[in-house]
Amino acid sequence: MKDYDLIVIGGGSGGVRAARRAAACGARVLLAEGADLGGTCVNVGCVPKKLFYYAATLGTTLSNIGAYGYPNATVGDFSWQTLLENKNTEIQRLNVIYQNLLQNSGVEIVKGMATLKDGNTITINNTEYCGAHILLACGGEPIRPPLPGAELAALSDDLFYLKKFPKKVIMIGAGYIALEFAGIFNGLGADTTLCYRADLPMRGLDIDLQQRLATGIAATGITLRPGSTPQQLTQNDTPPNTSTELHLQDGTVLSADLVVFATGRRPRTSALNLAAAGITPTKNGTLAVDENYRTSNANNAPVYALGDLINTPALTPVATNEAEVFVRRLFGNDTQATVDYKAVPTAIFSQPGIATTGISEHAAAEQGIDIEVQTSSFKPMKSSFAGSSSESYIKLISARDSNKVIGAQMLGDDAAEIMQGIAVAIKAGATTADFHGTVGIHPTSAEEFVTL
Ligand code: NDP
Repeated sequence: MKDYDLIVIGGGSGGVRAARRAAACGARVLLAEGADLGGTCVNVGCVPKKLFYYAATLGTTLSNIGAYGYPNATVGDFSWQTLLENKNTEIQRLNVIYQNLLQNSGVEIVKGMATLKDGNTITINNTEYCGAHILLACGGEPIRPPLPGAELAALSDDLFYLKKFPKKVIMIGAGYIALEFAGIFNGLGADTTLCYRADLPMRGLDIDLQQRLATGIAATGITLRPGSTPQQLTQNDTPPNTSTELHLQDGTVLSADLVVFATGRRPRTSALNLAAAGITPTKNGTLAVDENYRTSNANNAPVYALGDLINTPALTPVATNEAEVFVRRLFGNDTQATVDYKAVPTAIFSQPGIATTGISEHAAAEQGIDIEVQTSSFKPMKSSFAGSSSESYIKLISARDSNKVIGAQMLGDDAAEIMQGIAVAIKAGATTADFHGTVGIHPTSAEEFVTL
């Protein structure tokens, strides 16, 4: 048995950041990880997804270049195998970088699945490790709804290792993952259908953005099926047209060679033996924590949790910010450190893309905040020159009493890149006058935010 100041379970975005920062503060740190370092973000999430997204949008770019003087340019054949191999090489490179970052910081890495023995002890491969503090940073996992035949569908983790590129795909759900992968499959040439229960995709967005998103997605060639509730899946093994069949509650049967559940994620805690530390998850599976990220547990155990395990936005930058604050509070004597959850910017790498920060119109109404809303829609120069009718859309939401901008939204090209800067302005307390008084960069889509 060895003793540590901090044991971190989980080598993803939050766990790696916490381990490195704690070690930099002089703590003796052990990090346990059962799979590749980097967690969901690096291995089966943000990073490989963005590479696939780039591949998918390259096709759109190339199909527009005739107007730019390349009349004979063709996209040519797409090789899924090449994309997959190059993606795997890149991810392996990042796995090594993560390992080096940890080792160079003095963190001891143990490969294997960790379980809690009690509030200070974990077990990995029958060896016990003792820590003054234990941080749970095990992230989340995709949910497979309990429907008959559900095992016939893929989950998002599987999409990063498909042996064969599908000709026909059905995505179930209309959240982040469904929209992003629908855009990827469609962009790379698959016949793609999006089945979702609601009337509009991406619950939680303001309705005007949802409507424009649905119009924009449909314009890319994806078939939208709102009001579709899945009931069961079956396998049709009659050659030559073997397929997976999705039965909807209204009696419709759709078939495809790949059906994907993109129906949410849950904290990955089932193998942890939380009860050994007196921890009981909340109703939605997340762990309740205080401002130090210490779990509420019956044993008063020094066990902490962050990232996708707790009830904050399940986003990599949120997890890394939480890790910073966790370490500053525990090892840096900085009891004032906090994460600002009010204006967390986020982007959906759908096509068209969406990015938002701060409060939405409907959330402002729910909270009784009197707001002023300014919007603008416009045709971005790059695609309209090539004959595309696609429109970008931006929205600024300000509090009427203070004129402070408290929310911003964008649909269209470069939304994610533009929104990061807007998020800084909002965090700094910029008013509508500050936005209007800022000189634009011309000609860009971003300047629309200062010329409203
Ligand atoms: P989301 O919560 O975003 O969306 C889940 C979707 O599944 C919703 O459309 C929901 O529909 C639907 N759904 C849920 N249960 C069922 C069911 N039983 N049958 C049919 N449909 C169902 O989850 P994701 O899995 O897409 O993403 C999980 C999280 O991961 C996100 O919330 C985000 O925090 C993070 N993420 C972030 C990304 C980014 O930053 N770009 C990218 C990918 C993930 P309904 O509205 O009807 O409930």
